[in-house]
Amino acid sequence: GPAERTARIDLGAVRHNVAAVRARTVRQDGTRPLLTAVVKADGYGHGAVAVARAAQAAGADRLGVAHVREALELRAAGLRLPILAWLHTVGTDFAAALEADVTLGVSGWDLDAVAAAVRALRPAPGAADAGPVRARVHLKADTGLGRHGCAPAQWGELLERAAQHEAEGLVTVEGVFSHLGVADDPERAEETTAQLRRFEEAAAAAAAVLGRPLLRHLANTPATLSRPDTHLDMVRVGLGLYGLSPFEGVDATALGLRPAMSLGTTLANVKPVPAGQGVSYGFRHVAPAPTTLGLVPLGYADGVPRIAEGARVHVGGRTVPVVGRIAMDQFVVDLGPDARDRPGDAVELFGPASGIPADEWAAAAGTINYELVTRIGARVDRAHQ
Ligand code: PLP
Repeated sequence: GPAERTARIDLGAVRHNVAAVRARTVRQDGTRPLLTAVVKADGYGHGAVAVARAAQAAGADRLGVAHVREALELRAAGLRLPILAWLHTVGTDFAAALEADVTLGVSGWDLDAVAAAVRALRPAPGAADAGPVRARVHLKADTGLGRHGCAPAQWGELLERAAQHEAEGLVTVEGVFSHLGVADDPERAEETTAQLRRFEEAAAAAAAVLGRPLLRHLANTPATLSRPDTHLDMVRVGLGLYGLSPFEGVDATALGLRPAMSLGTTLANVKPVPAGQGVSYGFRHVAPAPTTLGLVPLGYADGVPRIAEGARVHVGGRTVPVVGRIAMDQFVVDLGPDARDRPGDAVELFGPASGIPADEWAAAAGTINYELVTRIGARVDRAHQ
């Protein structure tokens, strides 16, 4: 049957965005940093496998995810680019990661857990099988964000342990990385600079202890777009791939990016109501005059934030307001007294047909575009085109 609830993903836009970001990182001497396409959280809700393939086709060098399981899913789908996974729990299956050739970001206990997993996979002495290759790891430094990443006070010790594991043939340290906290805020450039300086120090210490230069990476989307000094050897770009702007008040198109996702459905019901009609839970909206209500069959279970009253949708070539509470499965729009809309007519919440950006829904919900697209629910089909 016809599509019911669909997040359309324009993979041409993803390819365009990858190429645009890549072009922006080319230096005067013609070199450029490697580009890691960040496709965690199911490609920020866009479909990790499809986005990863598109990113690869458009020249991304590597893939990045948070969880090992996300990396395994990409491998299972046949993606062969190097994949870095950086957020682990004590339950993470490092053996599976090793067997799938997943590079592991580590920052403390996880370095030893990875080394132990390599040791456990080694055959008994004298056995014919050579066993798995060493684990490839990137060491993560906390340069100020205070989340995961090794604290400066423990960095020297982490480097010593990494050198020991290397000497035992268990791991190879390929890179060193960190994550920025305020790169989206141009007024806080000094704090980004301070993180960059701390990172350069941490990377220099790592190179000294391990005896060779390592792949250094720090920049997320906002830093990649606004701070070439943070590009170093590789950038890790998520949001920009999806054509979304990390800067408040700056439209994606002004950055040369094309939003990849549009979210739509069809009107599930249309009905006339009299003045005084209460609408949705709490009757928070009461129709001030006779009008026509349209029912949109998407709700907070589908990632449409409950709090986003005040948002708008596109239907029948015009933009109409959401009225009343957004519920789990549905919300209501005011189509106006003379509406001619019918069940089955297309509704777009955001996307190119309406010109409504995802940012408008995010603002109505008091959140950011990252969260809005990432939370689009499992009941919504992804249509890649
Ligand atoms: N690097 C790391 C470690 C991250 O956690 C993320 C996402 O939060 C990114 C890069 C990508 O960030 P952005 O989507 O702003 O490009």
